[in-house]
Amino acid sequence: MRRITQDLLLSAVFSALSGLLLRTLLLSPGAAPSASPTPMKAEPSWPASAESAPKVASYEIEAKLDTERHRIAGRETIHFVNRSNTALNELWFHLYLNAFKNDKTLFLRSPFGAGRSGEKAREYGYVDVKKLTIVGGDGQDLWLERDRHSPDDPEDETDLRVPLRSPLEPGQTLDLELEFEDQLPEIIERTGFMGSFHFMGQWFPKLARLLPSGAFAHFPFHAQSEFYADFGDYDVTLDVPSGFRVGATGSRVRETQSKGRTQLSYRAENVHDFAWTAWDRFETRSERIAGTQVTVLFPPHQERNAQVELDSVRFALPHFNARYGAYPYPNLTLVHPPEAAANSGGMEYPTLITTGGPWFSTFGGGHFIDVVTTHELGHQWFYGLLASNEHTEPFLDEGFNSYAEAEALESRYGAASVFGAFGLRVSSTALNRLFSAARGEDERIAQGAAEFATFRSMGALVYSRTAIVLSTLARVYGADRINHALGVYARKFRFQHPTTADFLAVMQAELDSRAVTALALAFSERATVDYLVREISNAPISAAAGVFDGPNGREQKKPEAAQPATQEYTSRVVVYRHGTLQLPVEIALGFEDGTKQLRRWDGSGFTFNVDNTGPSRLISVNVDPEQRILLDEDRSNNWLSSDGSSAPHCRERALYAAQLLLGALGP
Ligand SMILES: [Zn+2]
Repeated sequence: MRRITQDLLLSAVFSALSGLLLRTLLLSPGAAPSASPTPMKAEPSWPASAESAPKVASYEIEAKLDTERHRIAGRETIHFVNRSNTALNELWFHLYLNAFKNDKTLFLRSPFGAGRSGEKAREYGYVDVKKLTIVGGDGQDLWLERDRHSPDDPEDETDLRVPLRSPLEPGQTLDLELEFEDQLPEIIERTGFMGSFHFMGQWFPKLARLLPSGAFAHFPFHAQSEFYADFGDYDVTLDVPSGFRVGATGSRVRETQSKGRTQLSYRAENVHDFAWTAWDRFETRSERIAGTQVTVLFPPHQERNAQVELDSVRFALPHFNARYGAYPYPNLTLVHPPEAAANSGGMEYPTLITTGGPWFSTFGGGHFIDVVTTHELGHQWFYGLLASNEHTEPFLDEGFNSYAEAEALESRYGAASVFGAFGLRVSSTALNRLFSAARGEDERIAQGAAEFATFRSMGALVYSRTAIVLSTLARVYGADRINHALGVYARKFRFQHPTTADFLAVMQAELDSRAVTALALAFSERATVDYLVREISNAPISAAAGVFDGPNGREQKKPEAAQPATQEYTSRVVVYRHGTLQLPVEIALGFEDGTKQLRRWDGSGFTFNVDNTGPSRLISVNVDPEQRILLDEDRSNNWLSSDGSSAPHCRERALYAAQLLLGALGP
């Protein structure tokens, strides 16, 4: 999800105002440097990619929405296959909606604001399972035998174990039938109602993901965490009052009317979740884009936002198709919630994404609707098709997707990808760099969502710093190589559940080992890098003077006599590398006579002597002049001038920093 950016933006602006400004903003990356240091591949070659997922849990659901009481009466059949190599004696269910049951749940009990929206509930919500039986079994209600609360957490009921009466052997199938009732909360976070607007995410009893070992990857619903589930097919029939417009995961296959109500049936194949929305005020636009039927549901008087959202998809869908493999579903639905229900916006579900923003979002030079639309669309790959564990390795979806978002937006808008007006330009990469630099050493990127000390820390590291690590690699080793490697990863693991190890294995095959080492360190070790220079030395070269004993006896050479006809100088600057990340870097040298040189250091060792002999003194040095190393902790120590003339450069940078700050404050 993306709403985090607004939150981070505000905190960044305040941090910037309180003195962090120059240190974090002195690097002013725009679009990636055009001159790639590695040759471009002519035609990318891709591995074969799967066209469907191995199905583990498929759902048939009937749901009847009471829009007055905000309740759903549900019936669900789960077709489950034990694809593990162990006999199963239990099942684990996620009842995510119980996160909103009372203020003592794991999700709501934090005294520092609940979850991403930072809001407490006004109307609580929950899900009651009425009955769980095995189809063709003895009719016993297995739900009576469940654990009453999440493991070791008597206050929480989002993660429940149900023992099986007889083991389910590897390869065996089990059809489960559940009756359930939802009470929707007023929207706190993603899901619930606001007036007659209803958004249903994580609304039905859902099996935790079965791992190959036979264990279930289950976890209680933490406010910082997202989700993890097996692939399957979904056949869902939604019953709503006639007059309500519905958007849902999958394709609508049937629509019937009876007694003032409408029954809408949806089918979605090879997905791992199902979300839907119903509102009696939705307006719709629909358009075929890159072979996909794209529908936008939006509030009255927001045609302009809907238009911008379609424009975004028109650019980003073919872009992502080419980068990460073709979007494999026939439909894509965009939901722009009404402003009062903004907390359901900026979220991803299979074949359905929520955007958001007030009616004036597209005025004044900001691309905020493009940002949220592009981000959530990117999740169709990094979450939808590459269904990594969002609880234990959230950077694999949010971080990679933040890179994909920035890369797509900058391909479209260049350095003004987030904001561009009044001569000011703000890019996603500049903002990511800002957030990344602020908290780079606080915690590891590669850790579980619930392990981060705060939500802001998670946002800065999982979203921004991961994107900056990938952007740095793209600028240092070549965007074509990094994008190709990510494309290989995305194709190889589509319809699977890749891990950090899977990602690094692909990188190992696609990139050189030093790049992979840097990636692994940056993700798992809080690794940082700061290149810096301290002083420039110049010495005139003269022929050796002194007393010399030669074959013709002793000879004395006076220093004046040793002076050559044309003066030469030997010059040195030492470049230091602080931190543990080794990244190749360029060093630009400027000489008194106006000549320039570019040197290159592979980043090994801690220091690098740049020596030169020539007719002119070295007067300036700029380490990483193209600003490829977005991870460089402090750009202000990267340049130096022996005659103190670095001031204009500094002024230029400070000006840019001020502009960036103004841009961040924009609408
Ligand atoms: Zn996201």
